[in-house]
Amino acid sequence: MNASSDSGDSGSLVAGLRCRLCGTLYPARPINFCPEDFGPLEVDYHHDAVARTFNRAAIASRPRTMWRYRELLPLDGPPTVGTQVGCTPLVRADRLAKVLGVSELYIKNDAVNHPTLSFKDRVVAVALSKAVEFGFKTVGCASTGNLAGSVAANAAAAGLEAYVLIPDNLEAGKILGATVYGAKVIAVSGNYDQVNRLCSQIAFKYGWGLVNVNLRPFYAEGSKTMGFEIAEDLGWCAPDHVVAPMAGGSLIGKIYKAFKELEKHGLIGPVSTRMYGAQASGCNPIAALVKSGGKRIKPVRHPNTIAKSLAIGDPADGDFAASLIHATGGWSEDVSDEEIVAGMRLLAQTEGIFAETAGGVTVAAARRLIQDGKIDRDGSTVLCITGNGLKTQEALIDHVARPQVIPPNLAAFEELVGLAPVDSAGLVAAS
Ligand SMILES: *Cc1c(COP(=O)(O)O)cnc(C)c1O
Repeated sequence: MNASSDSGDSGSLVAGLRCRLCGTLYPARPINFCPEDFGPLEVDYHHDAVARTFNRAAIASRPRTMWRYRELLPLDGPPTVGTQVGCTPLVRADRLAKVLGVSELYIKNDAVNHPTLSFKDRVVAVALSKAVEFGFKTVGCASTGNLAGSVAANAAAAGLEAYVLIPDNLEAGKILGATVYGAKVIAVSGNYDQVNRLCSQIAFKYGWGLVNVNLRPFYAEGSKTMGFEIAEDLGWCAPDHVVAPMAGGSLIGKIYKAFKELEKHGLIGPVSTRMYGAQASGCNPIAALVKSGGKRIKPVRHPNTIAKSLAIGDPADGDFAASLIHATGGWSEDVSDEEIVAGMRLLAQTEGIFAETAGGVTVAAARRLIQDGKIDRDGSTVLCITGNGLKTQEALIDHVARPQVIPPNLAAFEELVGLAPVDSAGLVAAS
């Protein structure tokens, strides 16, 4: 315990930022690492004060947005950015379950999140609301695609100036989906890790609020709402298995943290959920660490996969994600580009959900984990679908049939689909 906590002020439920390595508690400020040992910082709460209002009935009485869990989100006042985000559908996926060979399967569908069709709207809502509380006028991010669009859109709606830095090889839909909002989008000739390093330099030199750099501890808390919503929509119950895609490795840990916080406050029973992480084989540092049983991430220097949103070679939360996966009794798989495309098509054709490449990663990894007996077929399983397929059309363009062109008459239609022509009396013509 550390004396530097600012617990008393302003009635905030946030106790401060705690170092994940040494446990020291710091006041809530725009910093992302411990000055002592450079460990990452995580938001801690005054749980006694949280307990006074955080209960099932209070939550159920609030609007269906991610802010219904506001006691465990790190703001001092009401949210000002992204007030409509979250509460996406949890879909019972029986047709996909049949193909995968499991009895109880759900899709958490953040492909339809508001406003930019990915789970990133959750983290950005928290980070930019916090940026406003801190008084930042200029914000930004290092992005693999979805964060770019979400920061750009939410900053536009909040009247904040936004700088968005991306690797120069992203999909057209991701780039257009950021520039349209008027953000300054800068493509860097390098991979995500190089973009991220540049953003750290910018944040500290110019004093801007970069959502996944100096605002990262607050940003990351937004991911918990995916876990809160899953448990509430399952009737206040954590599932047996969760499969989540991993980029920096933050989301998977925060979903689990959400279940543990609900357990701590008595909103759900004891948690025994196993966490499963999904990556692409072309950038699999966390999956490789889980499989090797080692302690430290070996960075992937040259990511090469169609799942560009997950292509982080040196993931900030990779070590923690791998140890969490082991601690819960879960596992991790990585899948090829062909499997990713097959996963996207399978989800679309069984459940009518068009996910981006990261969704293909999740479905394909789940398929392998079930086949290998890592996920048991009788438990409940939730697949986290985190982005929308309309933004990564390049991945499918050579894999789906083009429509056939016909002249505008019935005979041509019937010839194409192989139907026998029918005469005007409704009788099939003799041929
Ligand atoms: C950012 C992102 C993730 C996961 O991010 P983490 O860095 O692991 O928290 C998953 N799916 C999509 C589509 C993303 O954009």
